[in-house]
Amino acid sequence: MNTRFETVSLPLDVPFEIARGTTETAENVIVEIEHDGEIGYGAAAPSRRYGETTATVEGILPELLDVVETVGDPHARRTIADRMKTVTRENPAAKAAVDIALWDLVGKLLSQPVYRLLGCSAAGDDRPPTSFTIGIDDTETMVERAREAAAAEYPVLKLKLGTDRDIEIVSAIRKAVPEAILRVDANEAWTPKEAVEKCRKLDSYGVEFVEQPVGADDPKALRYVYERSPLPIAADESCRTPADVPAIADRCDIANLKLMKTGGLTPAVELIHAARAHGLDVMCGCMIETNASIAAATHLLPLLDYADLDGSLLLESDPYAGAPVSAGRFEVENVDRGTGATLR
Ligand code: MG
Repeated sequence: MNTRFETVSLPLDVPFEIARGTTETAENVIVEIEHDGEIGYGAAAPSRRYGETTATVEGILPELLDVVETVGDPHARRTIADRMKTVTRENPAAKAAVDIALWDLVGKLLSQPVYRLLGCSAAGDDRPPTSFTIGIDDTETMVERAREAAAAEYPVLKLKLGTDRDIEIVSAIRKAVPEAILRVDANEAWTPKEAVEKCRKLDSYGVEFVEQPVGADDPKALRYVYERSPLPIAADESCRTPADVPAIADRCDIANLKLMKTGGLTPAVELIHAARAHGLDVMCGCMIETNASIAAATHLLPLLDYADLDGSLLLESDPYAGAPVSAGRFEVENVDRGTGATLR
């Protein structure tokens, strides 16, 4: 097997602000794994929140790809994953890039789309649509973006909050797009009491659920909010790997997985099973990502209750195409083989 990687800069359509900071250009690291004349694509979208940068991905990938070449069998994903764990216990985005590229490659070698390798059928109007995320901005701008997203037929909008005008924002957007399903994500910004108060007010605006109201470093705070909030609570920063699921099971309703937190599709499926076993609903989110990685996550849709897979949709342009998306629904049934990630 031949392997290579390359860092790409991906300018965003509009600067993306959340409670923690603003992104104008995302850097992803594309991984290619070649075997028997086929190339599998994957990508890492490192997040500083989880201790990763482009430099840490570039630093560890040679060792991870050395594992792939040494094992020499693209079908042996679990063997490769186990050996990657002995290289590093951390670096989940770097591992995700490798794991995704292997799934894409195996799908191409077997001429099957990844959802079929996962035991799912393409049929299913029950596949959840993706939300479209509105980053923090002045209220008028957020309202305008919400109107544009609704006009583009996205049925679900996710509003980033964590400002001193959170309720004003939701009130204005609710008025502008009365039909839209609204979710909010505070990205750990609220105190427990503030979170409960805001959840009660957000409930009156028909918000569907609230994501990560309080800091992941304070599990008691999450429990406090969960017990008092009239709205369902999703755990994102509090839910990184399958091993985190038991600890969040009695303090949230929805586990929010991301390939860049779990380390790829293989552990993402484990997280879904763990969450189901604990009675949680499951959402799959993403970072600001190219389709080289998002395309893989769209194959999990038959296994999910909620999807937030708009990472590539927020880019000014993406060098890779994935499953076509229409009115927020990924048409994964149109993928013939692999993840469907193709160089444009
Ligand atoms: Mg989130």
